Amino acid sequence: MYTIKPHCYYNTKGSRCITTTRAVVTPPSSVKIPRIAAEDPELQSTWAHRAWLTAGSTSVAVSLGKAVIGTADSGNFIQPVVAAAVGYILADLGSGLYHWGIDNYGDASTPMFGSQINAFRGHHRWPWMITKRQFANNLHALARAVMIAVIPINILTDDAVVQAFVGVCAGCIMFSQQFHAWSHSTKSKLPLAVVALQDAGILLPRQMHMAHHRPPYNDNYCIVSGVWNEFLNRHNVFEALELAVFIRFGVRPRSWNEPDTNWSEELGVQPG
Ligand SMILES: [Zn+2]
Ligand SMILES: [Zn+2]
Repeated sequence: MYTIKPHCYYNTKGSRCITTTRAVVTPPSSVKIPRIAAEDPELQSTWAHRAWLTAGSTSVAVSLGKAVIGTADSGNFIQPVVAAAVGYILADLGSGLYHWGIDNYGDASTPMFGSQINAFRGHHRWPWMITKRQFANNLHALARAVMIAVIPINILTDDAVVQAFVGVCAGCIMFSQQFHAWSHSTKSKLPLAVVALQDAGILLPRQMHMAHHRPPYNDNYCIVSGVWNEFLNRHNVFEALELAVFIRFGVRPRSWNEPDTNWSEELGVQPG
């Protein structure tokens, strides 16, 4: 069943909202809405999750520590600060590319990424569920990837500029799922500092990410600060990548198959 609903194309400066109409899947009334209990094991952190998060956080802390020590020793603050800023900005772009890939290609059986693809599929059906996930449960997969990538760099160099870039970039990528979870929370449930950072565009703004969960489901993929979203949306960068993948490999992205009920939010009452 489809209904025609307005779609708002969100502008990061809040100055433009182009409204179009698109077909939206309206799930039948018989669709079962999950009632997630706080003690649901799917959402709880295990000791393995905490161990991966500790390992990932330690590798990031080592990078940042080496950056601070190297900067203090050299007295040159400018280059490490610039490297850290570049790391923060590129982490947002990296989060968008990864999210786009996971949303559009592969399935639960895909090697290495299958569980992430399945998790994002579930997230698109029940977006609010991410706010019920415990901290380490939500972050452990990225923490594991960060640890594997960062430990060799920890060992190989003491260069303050390299470590500043790696520490900030890897840290932002590792915590991007927390920024993502905060973007799904209501303002009243968030710490004031988080709301202030979201409103300033330093962390992913709530309204910007909500646009990702509305048709056409093919924009606003970046989830660190969202600073790249407007540029990527405006220049149809992901559409161009999808076309290149299709021409080269003949694989269609999921976003071309909309409306797809598997990637549409099921309507229902969100558990409090
Ligand atoms: Zn998504
Ligand atoms: Zn989301």
